[in-house]
Amino acid sequence: MAKDLEIVRVPVLADNYAWLIYDPTTADAAVVDPGDAGPVLAEAKARGWHVSQVWTTHWHPDHTDGNAAMKAAGATVTGPRAEAAKIPTLDTMIGEGDVVRLGTFTGKVMAVPGHTAGHIAFHFEELGALFTGDTLFAMGCGRLFEGTAEQMFANFQRYAALPDDTKVYCGHEYTASNAAFAVTAEPDNAAIAERRIAVDGMRAEGEATIPTTMGLERTTNPFLRATTPERFAELRAAKDDFKG
Ligand code: ZN
Ligand code: FE
Repeated sequence: MAKDLEIVRVPVLADNYAWLIYDPTTADAAVVDPGDAGPVLAEAKARGWHVSQVWTTHWHPDHTDGNAAMKAAGATVTGPRAEAAKIPTLDTMIGEGDVVRLGTFTGKVMAVPGHTAGHIAFHFEELGALFTGDTLFAMGCGRLFEGTAEQMFANFQRYAALPDDTKVYCGHEYTASNAAFAVTAEPDNAAIAERRIAVDGMRAEGEATIPTTMGLERTTNPFLRATTPERFAELRAAKDDFKG
């Protein structure tokens, strides 16, 4: 039986996370959203890993600026067909229902528009791993630059169908500011209040709060807990105006 993939968090830029994914069976690696290739290549080199693939969730430069250097180091870039015009480094175009492969593992591509119009996520069911880019964040939700609250609500409903033990790998360390908003969105939710204290403690120690899990998000993420698109839209508008 194939060994599980290893997933390593690589902090890049101010508060982005690139995710290195390694298959020990084939000694092959991929990276999700290398906003800067330097730290990704350094981490891969330190581990003796060769990165053959870049998987891009959306066109924003803080997720794609490292693509060219990753290609120069031998990787091919796979990303959203709907954003091909904005991602000149793209080699392979994918969308809803397509798959990405690393070794024997397969990730399903989900079209999750709203933050950007062609944003995609990657779900590895057998691993219980979901790469959400700038859609679902720990205790929060990406801004709606190119889409509607209805679209993002629909994305979150799809995420909500995944098991509690699904690990969520998102694109930013935004949890502390999301927690500050979450306590105002649900002032009577003890789980949110507790998690905020835990998150503030972790950040004070310089610890990352990602990955999170669907189970934890289900109890403490107001956007995932919203049961109607109207409530979701109200939360998103309030967060846009929130001065934490
Ligand atoms: Zn973005
Ligand atoms: Fe981003």
